[in-house]
Amino acid sequence: MTIPHLREQWQMLADGLALRTRAFIDGRYVDAASGATFTCISPIDGRVLGQVADGGQVDIDRAVAAARRSFTAGHWSGLKPVKRKQGLLRLAALVEQHADELALLEALDMGKPVAEARRVDIGGVIRCLQWTAEAVDKLYGEIAPTGTDELGLITREPLGVIGAIVPWNFPLLMAAWKIAPALAAGNSVVLKPSEKSPLSALRFAELVAEAGLPEGVFNVVPGSGKGAGEPLALHMDVDGLVFTGSAAVGKRLLQCAGLSNMKRAYMECGGKSPNIVFADAHDLDKAAEAAARGIFYNQGEVCTAASRLLVERPIKDEFVARVVEHGRKMQPRHPFEPDAAMGAMVDEAQTARVLGHVEEGIAEGGRLLLGGKRAQVVAGGCYIEPTVFDEVAPSSRIAREEIFGPVLSVIAFDGEPQALQLANDSDYGLAAGVWTRDISRAHRVARGLRAGSVWVNCWDGGDMTAPFGGYKQSGNGRDKSLHAFDKYTEMKATWINLRS
Ligand code: NAD
Repeated sequence: MTIPHLREQWQMLADGLALRTRAFIDGRYVDAASGATFTCISPIDGRVLGQVADGGQVDIDRAVAAARRSFTAGHWSGLKPVKRKQGLLRLAALVEQHADELALLEALDMGKPVAEARRVDIGGVIRCLQWTAEAVDKLYGEIAPTGTDELGLITREPLGVIGAIVPWNFPLLMAAWKIAPALAAGNSVVLKPSEKSPLSALRFAELVAEAGLPEGVFNVVPGSGKGAGEPLALHMDVDGLVFTGSAAVGKRLLQCAGLSNMKRAYMECGGKSPNIVFADAHDLDKAAEAAARGIFYNQGEVCTAASRLLVERPIKDEFVARVVEHGRKMQPRHPFEPDAAMGAMVDEAQTARVLGHVEEGIAEGGRLLLGGKRAQVVAGGCYIEPTVFDEVAPSSRIAREEIFGPVLSVIAFDGEPQALQLANDSDYGLAAGVWTRDISRAHRVARGLRAGSVWVNCWDGGDMTAPFGGYKQSGNGRDKSLHAFDKYTEMKATWINLRS
């Protein structure tokens, strides 16, 4: 199918969509054992999309049991890596074939512009599946440096059953970063998508089956954090727990791992990422455009949002004026508009939360230069204007807390040491940017930054080859790249006596 470009074409596709709303356990769609459902509402216009199975303890128990059975049977875990690669490549091809539909589900469910969902989210899912599949039959073990009378083999083995809990901002992409290496390594998976965006994962499950992965290898249980997430995190038969979401929930999940079976637990959490612009940056307009896009892209609902803009004082006013100009052009529009730069916020609760932060910012003395209000785009929808605060005190809440919305906090600095001090003055350490034409300074500052990703003269650089994850309360472990396999494998040392 060709990619639809016009709003009307997306609307026609949306009108014809058949939603999958039941849990996917052991190769088939099932209702929640309790029969409970929750209402799925589109933030585009407040329309009810459907009633989704509200999974709980019993459903998690069933899904984990199915995953364990499939793992033990070895129909997937015991395959040669090249066979698992072929399965995942078939899955990538199916995702490509259904890319428009999956992108549409993301847009309807959480409000992002559908063209971005198609390009970034679903394009990213395809690239992630392909890259990870291609890697898995090229990973070798090690042989220890022994004498001739012994042999030391160091091998990687799948953990077993992986519980994956993911957020709503890039629903299928965040899931793919976990699912792809978990499955490639031979594990079975139980995925708990966010209750705010379950639809793409439920449709994806069907594609996994169509790709020929055996029953029970991949399961999806929708439901709330407390109702379905905690039973998964506390489950005694889950070997690994991987999470993307807020730091508060990440901390709770680390407790769950300790309270249960000491399952391996890896958390990708939030950020309050500093974007540092020195006066000697090459092209200030390009930097300003990147600064605006870095905070307003995906409505600011991005863990690596460039939410703190640190600008060297001599250029601060001019630079911020340019950022405001670029921001002004990114007003939210209907997510089906092909060139919408921003769409709807995920829901009313998040909209109210973000506007609450804006009020706080004003009360704390920040100078509001742009936005700060709800945008009237579609009746019943959740939209917020791109918002810029200047002269933000580094101690204020809008400079310290993750807002997860289109709100930029600008802070001026004097010289390199202060830039680094301000940048690192955060509980988080997910990403950071540096703009300068001085290569020595770029390296010095990059080294000094306490962040898992540092971008020099760009924002949000990288692809599947670069590991992604955080320092400090932004989490532990890494998604993407070959390092992702560390989370989904145990390391075994087999020592063989060759003397007898
Ligand atoms: P969240 O932490 O509220 O929820 C994430 C997931 O955890 C959801 O599926 C939710 O149902 C589940 N959950 C909530 N409470 C739970 C509990 N007690 N036990 C088990 N599961 C529970 O986060 P969110 O609002 O969905 O997403 C926004 C957050 O995600 C932001 O903080 C953002 O920075 C972060 N995020 C991080 C990355 C990253 O890679 N570092 C990427 C995207 C989003």
